[in-house]
Amino acid sequence: MAVIIHASPYMVLSRATCRSFGKMAPGSLLSLQGNSPVGVFSVLYKSRCCSYLGGDSSKRRSRGPIMAAKKVAEGLKQDEGKYKHTVDLPKTSFSMRANSSTKEPEIQKLWDENKVFDRIVESNTGESFVLHDGPPYANGDLHMGHALNKILKDIINRYKLLQNYKVQYIPGWDCHGLPIELKVLQSLDEDSRKNLTPMKLREKAAKFAKSTVKMQMASFKRYGVWAAWNDSYLTLNPEYEAAQIEVFARMALKGYIYRGRKPVHWSPSSRTALAEAELEYPEGHVSRSIYAIFKLVSPSPLLDSSLDDFFPDVGLAIWTTTPWTVPANAAIAVNGLLQYAIVEVESSLEGPSLSSGDKKKRLGNVLMGEKMPYLIVAADLVPALEAKWGVKLSVKKVLPGSNLENCRYAHPIDGKDCPVVIGGDYITTESGTGLVHTAPGHGQEDYVTGLKYGLPILSPVNDDGQFTDEAGQFSGLDVLGDGNAAVVNFLDEQSSIIMEESYQHKYPYDWRSKKPTIFRATEQWFASVEGFREAAMDAIGQVKWVPSQASNRISAMVSGRSDWCISRQRTWGVPIPVFYDKVSKEPLLDEETISHIKSIISRKGSDAWWYMKVEDLLPEKYRDKAANYEKGTDTMDVWFDSGSSWAAVLGQRNGLRFPADLYLEGTDQHRGWFQSSLLTSIATEGKAPYMGVVTHGFVLDEKGLKMSKSLGNVVDPYTIIEGGNNQKEAPGYGADVLRLWVSSVDYTGDVMIGPQMLRQISDMYRKLRGTLRYLLANLHDWKAEDAVSYNDLPMIDQYALYQLENVARNIKLSYENYQFFKIFQIIQRFVIVDLSNFYFDVAKDRLYVGGTTSFTRKSCQTVLAAHLLSITRVIAPILPHLAEDVWQNLPFTHTLEDGSIAKFVFDAKWPVTKELWLTLSPEDSKLWEEMLELRTEVNKVLETARGGKLIGSSLEAKVSLFTSDTIFARKLSKMVAATNDVDNLHRIFITSQAEVLSSLEEDVTASVPYTGECEINGKKVWVGVSRADGSKCERCWNYTSHVGSFPEHPTLCGRCYNVVSVQPDRPLAAAVS
Ligand SMILES: [Zn+2]
Repeated sequence: MAVIIHASPYMVLSRATCRSFGKMAPGSLLSLQGNSPVGVFSVLYKSRCCSYLGGDSSKRRSRGPIMAAKKVAEGLKQDEGKYKHTVDLPKTSFSMRANSSTKEPEIQKLWDENKVFDRIVESNTGESFVLHDGPPYANGDLHMGHALNKILKDIINRYKLLQNYKVQYIPGWDCHGLPIELKVLQSLDEDSRKNLTPMKLREKAAKFAKSTVKMQMASFKRYGVWAAWNDSYLTLNPEYEAAQIEVFARMALKGYIYRGRKPVHWSPSSRTALAEAELEYPEGHVSRSIYAIFKLVSPSPLLDSSLDDFFPDVGLAIWTTTPWTVPANAAIAVNGLLQYAIVEVESSLEGPSLSSGDKKKRLGNVLMGEKMPYLIVAADLVPALEAKWGVKLSVKKVLPGSNLENCRYAHPIDGKDCPVVIGGDYITTESGTGLVHTAPGHGQEDYVTGLKYGLPILSPVNDDGQFTDEAGQFSGLDVLGDGNAAVVNFLDEQSSIIMEESYQHKYPYDWRSKKPTIFRATEQWFASVEGFREAAMDAIGQVKWVPSQASNRISAMVSGRSDWCISRQRTWGVPIPVFYDKVSKEPLLDEETISHIKSIISRKGSDAWWYMKVEDLLPEKYRDKAANYEKGTDTMDVWFDSGSSWAAVLGQRNGLRFPADLYLEGTDQHRGWFQSSLLTSIATEGKAPYMGVVTHGFVLDEKGLKMSKSLGNVVDPYTIIEGGNNQKEAPGYGADVLRLWVSSVDYTGDVMIGPQMLRQISDMYRKLRGTLRYLLANLHDWKAEDAVSYNDLPMIDQYALYQLENVARNIKLSYENYQFFKIFQIIQRFVIVDLSNFYFDVAKDRLYVGGTTSFTRKSCQTVLAAHLLSITRVIAPILPHLAEDVWQNLPFTHTLEDGSIAKFVFDAKWPVTKELWLTLSPEDSKLWEEMLELRTEVNKVLETARGGKLIGSSLEAKVSLFTSDTIFARKLSKMVAATNDVDNLHRIFITSQAEVLSSLEEDVTASVPYTGECEINGKKVWVGVSRADGSKCERCWNYTSHVGSFPEHPTLCGRCYNVVSVQPDRPLAAAVS
């Protein structure tokens, strides 16, 4: 009596993650689109784990015939060699190794030489698709952000090409501006810098920009990006500059451009005004803040004599973080709706010792004097100020802020009397004293309040950030350094300081020089955002934003922005085309002057503004008065340059259109290019320049940290492609691995990259390459006319096509929604895990030993060819080099509907939807999902039997099944009896036999040495494994009792006998290494 070893079906399940992943595999593909993004790491981990299991056991199971043939090919003595020449070995010229450092440039050369991109754009018959390129700055090497951006664009463009669109993609570069000007200046010694004329500087800057463009273009091409490289746009091209002048002119003529003295962000280090987009707010900025007293000299008419008790020692307490602006003080603002208290400073609780104990605080002289003053502060702030100053404040009187309007105080520096005014909501009791020192020349809110009261706009500070003579004794001092200190000291000497305190807060820095900026009133040119803000807000609502939250982001920025200061005091840029009257300084700017200048610039470039005389730059009408005028020296903000690209590119090039279908840039462009483009376009055309906007995050290192040279965590796109100095640590992965990484990340947030991730991505690339190679190699003798028609295909083949079609649909949907990480996941699960673990595994038997021209092999090849043609095309937007490499190695030609041959993968277009393949009934598709689950369970028992040395190869086994679910049992029995030699259960399990038992009587089960139980969709199934009956066929290694029944071929099974007797001898196919 046989010993029954009841092996647990869960023996091999210690790798729990594998099981759950494996279980969800094929059916889950259909529900992928609804899934939330899964981290790349977890998916990769699971797949590695799964394919390890699947791959390993499948090799052991089904390598029989191929190994036999291989050994013979290698010259080993091998009994089974007799039928080697009847085995169809895989064969392909497609190499397993990508060898991308030489192969990818070769493929790119092939595309170039055959003008593939141009030709496909030309021959596509759909509408045009315009992704308008945001111009990167022509300054320095490319980083990962550039790579992410351009590759995302290329994925979209290439997908649209496959969808028959005429893709119009003109790459651009932003060439003007301070960073390039500074690079030129830095490259010169002091003497040459002295002799540098504006023209010489511009010449050098243009040369620098153009050489950078050339270098960056070469890198973009190496990423595999397709674009109209020979037709790119540079913001320094004369036709571009002329279009920009035109945008300026149209805004000016509509009244949206004005000149005004207004406080703007000014960078003393760069000696120019800055736009909000050119500021950054680094952590850790500390200002010297002061609480100061401005002495009251007369009450408001409303208050009349009610303050008599407190004069003359009553002061207004203010708080400021910029003491250097006190010389420009013009008023003190209060909130009319707040209550204010007159308080008596009774005693210093801690005394001056406070200053020595705490370096950050210092009490002013006024608190150390004998006679303590009365102060006016916001009533709600009294307790906070007591604590802050360390004094007792006793409230003597409370009055509404509105009563304080028109009180007068003595200016703390020059003594002249100034008014108390009512400010806006910006005056709160959150910090400070509730009274705001107001210097309209140094603050936006102060400026607005100043306009209301007609206050003088004082700004006694020059371009270098030093006090001018207007600031009296402080003249010549640096406002951010000794000037600030001098003001504090002076105020303290006058007993005007209550307390000084270090104050850490957000403060705007120049993003280029990394130095603090100031707010300073100067004569500048402005675009009146106020004039078209509402239209801009409406337009934002019409645009499709991806991700959708981006809409809120840009709305908030546009709704809150002040007028756009568009003038810069620099040389390397497009001039603001304006003349000034030499005497009155009145600007001259009208339709005729601008149109004349525009026509000159379109012919000669903006250099003409610098080298031509005023009389030549002026139109006929003004020429005789040329002596009265001088040229303006301001250039335009570079955001106006790039913000005009819709006019200079979309509006001017053939085949393009306005608005563009899509803009795609980093999330920082909400305050940069997306916004400047929107503003210029709304102001002139009344609509947004784009219909859709996609934004991506920043690229961080593997730990989520910002990349920086000092941290040594910079990942460079060039190194990813070509490899680093140490090829072992940093191998060259090629452009496709970089692109595969781009597709794998959810770019709507910040994304991460590092050596570990690259290794995993490269691993996935290799597996995908291996899958495609399997397909190519098993189709070496395939021709389209060999295809078996759908209705004749075995069930398993119909099911494979059903899955393929669903996968292609889901991938298409993900491209349409710009969700490439979903494509990455689908490919990973279906192409790499599911196919190789199931269909390919099962297919090997009929491919290798089914007989070259047999129905079973041809039907399998029909399915493989469909997979090859579909997968290669759907991955082509992401992995164009791999897809083309496959295509150039196709063992057959692919003919298009019009009868032409697709020579390149992009000629082939997107796979045509096969509705027929989706006609598989829900019942059948459910059955196959269950079969896959059952197969997994059967494999576990086989594995146990192998461990117990009952079998080696799974072909040595017979599988017995029992289920009390009669419907399921009937379906399984039908598969056992399948006549096509494909859908049979034993073929699907890769065993020699399979049977379905009608009962589980002990006399039946007693002879089965290995058993297990499982539940498939609620149906209990018993699985038994015993040794296969009969003898081993020499050719296919399957066991059957028919071996020995054919006298001519006594070692063959029935199937192999038939194959061998109809198939003439033929030479051995070359083995594939
Ligand atoms: Zn056989």
